[in-house]
Amino acid sequence: MVNCNKFLRWGITLRDIILKPVQENLCLFICFYLTGLVLIILPVVMHHETLLKTSFFTWIFDIYIICLLLQLFPSKIKKWISILIAVPFYILAIVDVFCYKTHDAKFNPEILNLILDTNNREANEYLAQYIQPGLFLTPIGIILVIIILHLLMGRYKKYLVSKLSQLRLGSILKSITVLLVIVSIVLSLPSRFEFVKILGAKSKTDIGEHISFQVLNTPCNNLLFGMKLRELDKQELVLLLEAQKQVKVDSCSFEPSEIVFIIGESYIKSHSQLYGYSKETTPLQKQRTTDVGNGLLIPFTDVVTMSNYTSHVFKNAFSLKSVEDDIIGKASIFPVLFKKAGYHVTFISSQFFNNSDYDVFDLSGGLFLNNASLSSMAFDCRNEKAPRYDETLLEYYDSLKIYNRKYNLTIFHLIGQHIDFYKRSPKEWKKFQVKDYQDRKDINDKEKAFVADYDNATLYNDYVVDQIIKRFEDKDAIVIYMPDHGEGCYDGGHKLGRMPKGEYSRNILENEYDIPFWIWCSKQYLENHPQICQQIKDAQNRPFMTDDIPHLLLYLGGIKCQEYQEKKNLISPIYDVHRKRLLNGEADYDSIISRE
Ligand SMILES: [Zn+2]
Repeated sequence: MVNCNKFLRWGITLRDIILKPVQENLCLFICFYLTGLVLIILPVVMHHETLLKTSFFTWIFDIYIICLLLQLFPSKIKKWISILIAVPFYILAIVDVFCYKTHDAKFNPEILNLILDTNNREANEYLAQYIQPGLFLTPIGIILVIIILHLLMGRYKKYLVSKLSQLRLGSILKSITVLLVIVSIVLSLPSRFEFVKILGAKSKTDIGEHISFQVLNTPCNNLLFGMKLRELDKQELVLLLEAQKQVKVDSCSFEPSEIVFIIGESYIKSHSQLYGYSKETTPLQKQRTTDVGNGLLIPFTDVVTMSNYTSHVFKNAFSLKSVEDDIIGKASIFPVLFKKAGYHVTFISSQFFNNSDYDVFDLSGGLFLNNASLSSMAFDCRNEKAPRYDETLLEYYDSLKIYNRKYNLTIFHLIGQHIDFYKRSPKEWKKFQVKDYQDRKDINDKEKAFVADYDNATLYNDYVVDQIIKRFEDKDAIVIYMPDHGEGCYDGGHKLGRMPKGEYSRNILENEYDIPFWIWCSKQYLENHPQICQQIKDAQNRPFMTDDIPHLLLYLGGIKCQEYQEKKNLISPIYDVHRKRLLNGEADYDSIISRE
């Protein structure tokens, strides 16, 4: 009997020790967990995802660890540390819920990249599009209510604690809480160990490809994971710099005097008249497909992008390695080869420009573009300001072309049809309006307005691209056009914006990964290089993924180097038409398209 009482006393003491961090941080524990419940249930309600039952326990574990750490501080400063933790916690929770509204997904490393790769102007435009009065009637409103509850509970904490201790079931409640904490520790330790291992990884390979949902089940974990990936990207930059120092060109036959590479933005193939869209969005490009007097535009029919994110596209489309090689850091980038071969390389961008402030902040998107050393290895000339509209890039080109030499590579990087579509074209280009979409019974007027804005941006893009071509009509010139990726704009049930990596339905592929692609040859070029022109025509219907674009560009430039691979050159007779087109290096485009 004595022993029994002794065990009971020990049990109660142990229970109180375990419970102490919860008791002393009661408001934080309750309100953080309520927030956790919202974030666990939201994907199930809004996205019909499977309920991750273990998350109910990992949230308890994580919050318990926070409470435990808070115990290390003297009570005077504990309050301030709690505020320091609560503010980013609630901000992250709101971001997470907001991502469901904007991306149909929880906050994740891909979205972090998207946010960090977006400059201020884009970010303001993006947020303005989604922040509307109705937003506060959404789950964000629930998080705001929890924040208010947290503030009130903090204010009346003493009263709350005394009321709880008076409860007749107080002892049972304490025991249940402790039991939940113990179960949570047992269930969560493996996934939390895995997460700590990820944070200590030395390379992306160490992290591996299969990270369980339990590991990345909170916005905080996703943020830390995203930051880790960006740190590894930073290391990739060091490798990339090193690799460019080793770049060697064997020979260069300088085929044409002008090579122009235009990189568009967020261009949905099915919204291009050139590819059968019912609206006249690309009349000037269409005209050039038949107007041989001023050169000839040859559209390609089966081209896809390897990623629907700008930063990934730039990394892969500039590098001589393909997306599945996953060693981009150790590869040459094509402008460096062109420069080394003797071409004068100009880069004129609406999104990345010569501004040292950006540097590593825009690590992924501007991996090499915003690093001063790498930029000087790759480019002779760049613009220093972002233009309001793409048309201004032509003014930049006109002012920079005095530096041109006999052989030039000019890269234009447009803002194209980037969200927010309305802002992509000046007033005089608002040709399409809501009334022009009466046949779209699947969308409401507000959505029709977005589609009209998108089509107006495409129409304006047609004009800008045509103006670029005009500047090369009387030269021995070739122009290659590709957008970085497509976009979601209410087609076939698709919402607005792009889906995170990992989502590969046929609808997503058609909107976001299928892209327009064409090559224009000037009259002189057609006369001087009839064989290459024939090769281009022969390749028109070949399947192609744009991560291999450098091989085509090197061929067109007459540059020979060790890294050039004939089978990756789209217009070579031995081009590998059977290459698997792995989106993001992981999803087989052709098998998804043929399966669904
Ligand atoms: Zn983009």
